[in-house]
Amino acid sequence: YQGLAGRSTNEVLQLYAARGQQMKLQRSSVVTQLYAAVKKRLKQDLKSLHSFTLELSKDFQRQSKTCLYQVLAAVQRIQLQNEAMQMFQIKAFDLEQSLQEVTERYEKEKQKRKALHNSLIELRGNIRVHCRIRPLLPFDDAAGHLVSQDRQRNFSEKAAYAADDETVLVKCSRPGHASINKTFQFERVYNDLESQDAVFADVAPLLTSLLDGYNVCIMAYGQTGSGKTYTMLGPQLEGNLAFSIEEESELGIIPRATEEVFRLISEKPPGSYWVEVSVVEVYNNEIFDLLAKDSYGKVFGVKRDVVTTREGKSDVPSLTHETVENASEFLHLVNKGLQLRVTHPTLVHAHSSRSHLVVTLTITTVVFGDNFGTLWDDEQTSQRINKEASCTFPQKIRDSKSTSSSGASSPVQLEATEKMKQVKTRLQLVDLAGSECVSMSGVTGAALRETSFINRSLSALADVLGAIAEQRAHVPYRNSKLTHLLQDSVGGDAKLLVMLCISPGQKYLTESMQSLGFGTRARQVQRGQVKKKNFPVLSKGK
Ligand code: ADP
Ligand code: MG
Repeated sequence: YQGLAGRSTNEVLQLYAARGQQMKLQRSSVVTQLYAAVKKRLKQDLKSLHSFTLELSKDFQRQSKTCLYQVLAAVQRIQLQNEAMQMFQIKAFDLEQSLQEVTERYEKEKQKRKALHNSLIELRGNIRVHCRIRPLLPFDDAAGHLVSQDRQRNFSEKAAYAADDETVLVKCSRPGHASINKTFQFERVYNDLESQDAVFADVAPLLTSLLDGYNVCIMAYGQTGSGKTYTMLGPQLEGNLAFSIEEESELGIIPRATEEVFRLISEKPPGSYWVEVSVVEVYNNEIFDLLAKDSYGKVFGVKRDVVTTREGKSDVPSLTHETVENASEFLHLVNKGLQLRVTHPTLVHAHSSRSHLVVTLTITTVVFGDNFGTLWDDEQTSQRINKEASCTFPQKIRDSKSTSSSGASSPVQLEATEKMKQVKTRLQLVDLAGSECVSMSGVTGAALRETSFINRSLSALADVLGAIAEQRAHVPYRNSKLTHLLQDSVGGDAKLLVMLCISPGQKYLTESMQSLGFGTRARQVQRGQVKKKNFPVLSKGK
């Protein structure tokens, strides 16, 4: 304002205008600069935004491409899997078809095998004899006779051996004489090391015949202490007539056969078979029912008789038959019956059995009218069974009331079905009394009576087998209760296995030779086999 002093208004106004102009110019140049800066900044931002968008879209493209590839690969994989699945389905179908073919072939082969099995057994003959030589045991050394030390030593030496699995070799040596070797041939010979398993393996095929409609009998023959009870039942419990059920590998033929029968039945349609058991002792030519119970339910031996029915079959009226559903039920029942077995210690062996034990499994097969006969493969059996079933059906239904317990296949329930038929087959398992001579046992009085009954029944058995061997018209089954009881399992179509039991010691030479002779005689039945089918009187001959 000092510069304005003394100036005219005009001049001042001019100055002000110039000043305004200058300021205006200054202001506009700032605005221009600002504008340029903003513009530049905007341009930069836009550029970076652009490149960012470009980047983003490129990335998006890349990622979508990867995804597309992945989707394509997945689709391809699914396609491959679908193809593989189809292949598998085709393969599974093929396999199913070939399995069906194999099953059909297997069924056919099984039928053929069964038919062959029966014809093989038929060819081998209905009686076969196996021989088992037990090991030397500590009691073989015990003195049973008044003999010198020298001879005693000689006595406990082995005299009987299994030369091979069909031959027994016996060294017959007498003091002062050269020893002679004798051989005996049987279908099978077991040496002292052969197990209960091995023995049973040869017995098992017979049981197949049982379900094919044949009666089967397996009996152990031999002197006391030769291993009959061991072979048939298993080792006996100490001081008890029962046998040990726990030691499975030691079990004998009776428990194993029962197990096998139930196994075979389990392969059949359920309810078509049931099993009844009877336990009988033949003592002094009397038959005792070891399963009969008194009014308190306690078992006690009741005397029974054996008769011949109108069809020519042997039967024990009012004998107790207990229905069993499995092997362990059976074993407990048999063990209970065994406690009653009459025994008398002889000098040969403390637990000598002086009676014959007959355990019978009766298998009843139920067949319905139309498919009857398809159960048996070979026509002959079908016809035979068919005939038998048709003619005995009404009576058998009536008999089957017995003591049978409940259960799905109880006979009482089955009575309702009109078209049903029943066939009974029997498996008789026999532990014979000791076959030793009277003089050997050194018994007198009542025991002597027992022994003579035993000897008589065993010689009746030998006579029966001899008569069958020679195809005699008359077979003397009725000469003893034992042979009468076993008639249907020994004669006719029945299959009999005699298991000779032999003590190997020199001191038992006489009894061993006697047993081997019995076996050899029984075996001759086989030689007449070819004509046997035409032999009409076997089952009826008395
Ligand atoms: P048996 O019934 O003929 O009178 P046992 O079966 O009672 O004869 O056998 C007599 C003894 O011999 C028993 O102690 C039994 O355990 C034993 N024994 C029999 N056979 C054999 C064997 N093969 N292996 C081992 N011990 C046996
Ligand atoms: Mg015995």
